[in-house]
Amino acid sequence: MTLLVGAIADDFTGATDLCNTLVKEGMRTVQVIGVPDDTTDIGDADAVVVALKSRTAPVDLAVSQSVAAHDWLTAHGAAQVVEKYCSTFDSTADGNIGPITDALMERSGAQIAVICPAFPENLRTIYQGHLFVGADLLSDSSMKDHPLTPMRDASLVRLTEAQSKGKAGVVPLQVIRQGPAAIRDAIASLQTQGFSYAVTDAIDPEDLRAIGAAIASHPLVTGGSGIATGLPDNFRATGQLGKAHNPRLPTPTGRKLVLAGSCSQATRQQIARVQDTWPTRKLDIDALATGTDIAAELADWALNTPADTPVLIYSSSDPAEVTDLQAKYGREAIGEKVEQTLGRIATQLVANGFDTLVVAGGETSGAVVSALSVRALRIGPEIAPGVPWTETLGGPPVALALKSGNFGGETFFEDAFGMLT
Ligand code: ADP
Repeated sequence: MTLLVGAIADDFTGATDLCNTLVKEGMRTVQVIGVPDDTTDIGDADAVVVALKSRTAPVDLAVSQSVAAHDWLTAHGAAQVVEKYCSTFDSTADGNIGPITDALMERSGAQIAVICPAFPENLRTIYQGHLFVGADLLSDSSMKDHPLTPMRDASLVRLTEAQSKGKAGVVPLQVIRQGPAAIRDAIASLQTQGFSYAVTDAIDPEDLRAIGAAIASHPLVTGGSGIATGLPDNFRATGQLGKAHNPRLPTPTGRKLVLAGSCSQATRQQIARVQDTWPTRKLDIDALATGTDIAAELADWALNTPADTPVLIYSSSDPAEVTDLQAKYGREAIGEKVEQTLGRIATQLVANGFDTLVVAGGETSGAVVSALSVRALRIGPEIAPGVPWTETLGGPPVALALKSGNFGGETFFEDAFGMLT
């Protein structure tokens, strides 16, 4: 079986989110970390999502990595490439989305590219070319104050044109609701009028399915994870993809570990739920900040806990304590030290019999994956919305559940391990 869909995501958890959509639509999906090369193992994947850190990277680097990922994906058979960005179109004023789209259009020969960040299940909708977050225009939502990518305009036409070379037009909801043939005609008409980008309205998942059906022949598709909803069915219609594939759970045999570096409320509740039942240690941040090697000590401690119970190691503090620690040691410095320490603990424990890890926190997950030198993940079934079980490829398999801090209910840790027994 050859690769069908390739994707390039501009951040790590965004890539996992897209993988989750493709898996739910029945594709065997692998997430690759960084631009793949000859040594990258993608198993028997129908879809590969390359996770880059290109959202806020310097534009030249963002473009060159995206083009390299594109070339690798098409060389491995991908008939269609998805450029995945955030459903709130997160980008800097100069933007990286526009330059990446232009470069990928040139590379793929695409004459027009759909622009569709809509993700209705998460209340990101597009109407008359304007992006909404819940009931608010993007520019009135909390995204207006984002520390790295403040979004102060909700017009996807203006945002796209400001970042890229061509002109953008809209395929309005009235046309979307007429179905795939009408959408195809509308996109073709925009193309003949000299537009390079078609902003497609979408306010519910069926709109995304109709758009997906209309763009079966597009070599390049751009959008949020929702834009992939309708793509697998196109390959099913042509006989290239079989029946919906049921994602496989990892089958680990070793010990279970939770590493939590997120200080978000959901993670703190998840910790509170198990900390009196499972062997638990909190990172001593003062010791860490003053240079003590607490990673080795904590790894030793974990190795001497009873083998039949999961172990929890966390750094998470409540907001007041975080503020104090940040004031004492510096926000970035302490964040980085915590991330590095959790990464080193992961490495030491994985080398000594732990092979089932839940990691809480987006940055923390990135640090652990990089400490473990993970190159690719096979995506398994969903534990909670947006968080699948995954399994590392290209070495002894490790089961990893990587969750953004605020994701998952109170019983997430037990739910995750419970699925594997
Ligand atoms: P989330 O997904 O909740 O945003 P992240 O892992 O992305 O979680 O970010 C949490 C950040 O906070 C990380 O950089 C982590 O190292 C840092 N951190 C963790 N614990 C503490 C703490 N007790 N004090 C200060 N910073 C912390």
